[in-house]
Amino acid sequence: MKKTLKQKLQETVRRCGYCGEVLKGNSNKRFCDNSCRSAVNNIKYKKDNKIITQINRLLKRNRDIIRQALGKVSTVIVAREKLVAQGFDFDFTTHWYENAKGEQYEYCYDYGYLELKAGKVLLVKDTKLKKKRKKINQHLAGLFNR
Ligand SMILES: [Zn+2]
Repeated sequence: MKKTLKQKLQETVRRCGYCGEVLKGNSNKRFCDNSCRSAVNNIKYKKDNKIITQINRLLKRNRDIIRQALGKVSTVIVAREKLVAQGFDFDFTTHWYENAKGEQYEYCYDYGYLELKAGKVLLVKDTKLKKKRKKINQHLAGLFNR
């Protein structure tokens, strides 16, 4: 059946979300085919991963700065300024831990710090890591080996 001009104008032209090709039929699909769909998904995935990669670089840099400052000792006190001068970013940490005294240690993976008075920072290596690694492994197994 031929459509009148009025009917044609009322139809909204739906186009593929990737290539812009006019979509045929009245189904509610958003792309011509799977290749267009996966092209869009890849772009989204790259955008998501970009921010993760950037934050991971900052976290790794923070970790490296602590690790290098510690060398072979397990704790050391350094000036906050010195860390900042080396590129340490106090806004990026992976997790924190509060001890019985209510002191809050911030961590960048397995290395951490506690801010002290007078612009000093106590740097530490996570000494309870063995126990935590077991817990991390169990958690990961539970999440991904189902
Ligand atoms: Zn397309």
